[in-house]
Formats: sequence, structure tokens, C-alpha cells
Amino acid sequence: MTEELPFEALSVETLAARLGGNDALCAKIGKDTDAWKVREVGDGNLNLVFIVEGASGAAVVKQALPYVRLVGDSWPLPLKRSFFEYHALTRQEARAPGSVPAIHYFDERQALIIMEYLAPPHIILRRALIDGRQLPNIARDIGLFIARTLFRGSDLHMAAKDRKADLALFADNVELCDITESLVFSDPYFDAKMNRHTSPQLDGLVAELRADRDLKVEAQRLKHLFAANAETLLHGDLHSGSIMVTDTETRMIDPEFAFYGPMAFDVGMLLANFWMSFFSQRGHEQEGRRDAMRAYLLEVTTETWAVFRAEFSHLWRTERTGMLYQKSLFEDQGDRLGAEQALDHVLHQMWTDLLGFAGIEVHRRILGLAHNADFETIADEDLRASCEAKALKFGRHIAVNRRQIHSIDEVNNLATLIEQESSI
Ligand code: ADP
Ligand code: MG
Repeated sequence: MTEELPFEALSVETLAARLGGNDALCAKIGKDTDAWKVREVGDGNLNLVFIVEGASGAAVVKQALPYVRLVGDSWPLPLKRSFFEYHALTRQEARAPGSVPAIHYFDERQALIIMEYLAPPHIILRRALIDGRQLPNIARDIGLFIARTLFRGSDLHMAAKDRKADLALFADNVELCDITESLVFSDPYFDAKMNRHTSPQLDGLVAELRADRDLKVEAQRLKHLFAANAETLLHGDLHSGSIMVTDTETRMIDPEFAFYGPMAFDVGMLLANFWMSFFSQRGHEQEGRRDAMRAYLLEVTTETWAVFRAEFSHLWRTERTGMLYQKSLFEDQGDRLGAEQALDHVLHQMWTDLLGFAGIEVHRRILGLAHNADFETIADEDLRASCEAKALKFGRHIAVNRRQIHSIDEVNNLATLIEQESSI
């Protein structure tokens, strides 16, 4: 494939002919294209994902389309999202080595990324949690990833000039930000065209939530924070469907929503997905109770937040080389306590904000366009609605009361309390 050709979507049939001359791909999988086996596996909403297996290995070819795959060409979306995904992946690899698939090749014109194939037993984390699997390392691995990427992509660490250049680069990811701005922060709170929910079971609750002024105002304050606080390079879509796992490995994928925003956004979205998994477990108990799984999921939230805080604090003490909270004002004057005090403020603010983002994420996954397989795969609609109603109640509480909640134990006790209510 040469740079001069205009964009053309790949297909299972054309891939070998079009990429047969690609040195990076041939080096990974072998250059005898007759031996190549190509499958399209994209179960995502937006892009094409091919697995290409050759005589000496396999790779993934991910290509953007000029529209949203799930919806079709009635919803155009720029190819440039592939450019942002590529640049986010290279930054994440630099800031948190080993946490993302290795990148072999990028073609901006064709909007395609060739990357490491995360072969089975790698599985999407959301799928594993639906199956009731307890992965031993995810809290540690993900906690470290978010601490390292969020800290090292900010003015706490980077040279101001470099961060501003990066801010400018990612500021162009307008259309994907717009998806988040609309689908996450606004659509669930009015009768937007693409919304859907389990109906008629949740109709009453939906009407109640739309009339909930405190929740609506809180959602808009969080949207304001999301849009106006360009603190660090976010993954932007860090949910359990963007993480691939084995029992020993954890990799983050799919950062095409990357842009500069508040640190609490990635953390809040991530934790919300663990809490939603918690509330969905009741719907997956056909083959036995999921009490141990529920306990595990709450432990994962506790441990992820603890690992995040510990690593963020470590980086604060050892890598605070940016223009914020300069060492010249604190440690260099013998004022280590001042640096610790400032760290406490930063972490406390992040905690308050992440609860807001988490609560909002729960709502949009149950009331908006993009639902979660955790709930969607519960076939019994009454049972699904009951799980969803509890999650909504939880999400509303943590979003609206976020300034009054002080610890993750409080949040998890609340989740347990709501989950055990007989019916809502
Ligand atoms: P989209 O941007 O369309 O959501 P994703 O990046 O989420 O696409 O990929 C869609 C699916 O393709 C994932 O859920 C996963 O099953 C598979 N996939 C993506 N990247 C890889 C990879 N590097 N290795 C193995 N499977 C992958
Ligand atoms: Mg995806």
C-alpha cells in the first residue's frame, strides 16, 4: 500500500493483496501471502479489526471507516481518529511500558494501524467478568497504567512546551470528543433520538431521572469539567471493553477517544464499569450464586484506587518535574510537608470528581445509545431491569453526593446495600 492511494476500506478478500508488500507486516507474519489467513473480528462499534495469520506469526490490522460502523454512513466520523489512536498508543507505551499492544506500523492516509495480536487466552475483560472470572492482576495493572499515563502526560511531569504541543495535537480530536460530550453528559438527561432503555420496566425511573434537577445540574457541571479542564492525555474510553486480559497479563486497547481532559475522567469511567459489573452479576447466576464474584469486584475497585494513589504519590515525590507545584517551592526549601499537603489536595479533588464521572457513566450505559454487554446479555428483561435500576440508584447517589463521600469503603458499602434490596 502506498501513501499516494486514496483511502479505501480493506476487506477479508483484499487485505493480502493490499498489504502483501508491507515490510512491517511481512516481518511479523511471513511474506508468503498465499499462506495468510484473514478474519474480521471487530465487535466494536466504530472500526474494522482484522486478524491476519501467516506462516510465522499473526498481527492485528485495525482500520477506521469514514463513518460509525455500528450505524452506517448516515453517521460520518473522520478517519483521523486512527491518527489519534496511534499517537495515544505510542504515548501510553512510553509512559507505561508494556501496557498496550506493540505497534508495528501506521498509515495515516489509509487510517490503519498494524499492531500486536493479543492471542487467546487474551479475552476482553468485560467478557471475563460476565463469565464470572476473577482475574488476579487487573487492579494492580490498571491502577499502575492510569497513574503513570495520567501523571506523566500532565504539567506535573512534562515540560510545558511539550505538553502544550501535545494538547494542540489532540485538540483536533473534535468529533470523538463530541460523542462523549453528547452521549455521556447530555443525551441520557433528555429524550434524545438515539437513547434506549429496558422498557416498559424502567419507564417510570427514566421519567423520574429526567425530572431530577440535582442530577441534571451535576451532569452538566461534570461536562463543564470534562470540556474545560485539559489536565492530561486521557485514554478517553477506558471501560472493561477496552482492556484485554489473561490470568497474568493486562493490556489497554482502543484509545481513539484520547484527548486532554481531567484525570478523574479515566478513573471514574473505569471504576463505574466495575460497579456495573457488580450490579449485573445477579443476572448471571443461572449456574450458581455470584457472591464471591461480587466481593471480588468490590475488592478490585478498592485495590485499583489504592494502587493508583500509591503510584501517583510515588511519581509525585520522584518525577514532579513539570511547572506545577515545583520542587523549588517545596522540597528545595526543606518543605516536604508542603508538597504532601498539595498532593492531598490534588488526590482529594480527583476522588470527588471521579465519583461524579462514575455516576454519570452508569447512567449513559443504561439510558443512552451505547449499552454494556454486562446488562444486555441478561435475557430475562425483568431481571435485567432490576439490575439496571439498582445501578442507576447507585450512580445517582454517588454523582449527587460526591462531596459528602469520603472513602471507597463507603461507596462499596452503599453498593452492597442497594444490591441487596429486594426490588426497586
Ligand atoms: P473499536 O474501536 O471498533 O471499538 P476495538 O479496538 O475495541 O475496536 O477492537 C474491537 C475488537 O477487536 C476488540 O473487542 C477485540 O476483541 C479485538 N481486538 C482489537 N485489538 C486487538 C488486538 N490487538 N489483539 C486481539 N484482538 C484485538
Ligand atoms: Mg472499542
